[in-house]
Amino acid sequence: MTINELVKQAHENAKKKGFWDERREIGTLLALIHSEVSEALEADRKGRWGNFAEEMADIVIRVCDLCGGLGIDLEWEIIQKMNKNALRERLHGKRY
Ligand SMILES: [Mg+2]
Repeated sequence: MTINELVKQAHENAKKKGFWDERREIGTLLALIHSEVSEALEADRKGRWGNFAEEMADIVIRVCDLCGGLGIDLEWEIIQKMNKNALRERLHGKRY
């Protein structure tokens, strides 16, 4: 499965479950992505590695759903950004 197929499937599933019945605010969807990041942090704090992995999946699913809703070609964007990052200096010029 390609990244764009994941995007399509995540967004179609979210629509089917009613999450896109009304217009979505980008800020709300970004906050929901962040909530999954926080859940991953808590899973790590508790040493729950299986749950941590599931939260990683939740983050990607929510990103895919948002990109699907906005018509973003996530696969193309990732490839472009990875190529850009490959040319950046060590630590991207920062301390960490
Ligand atoms: Mg979660």
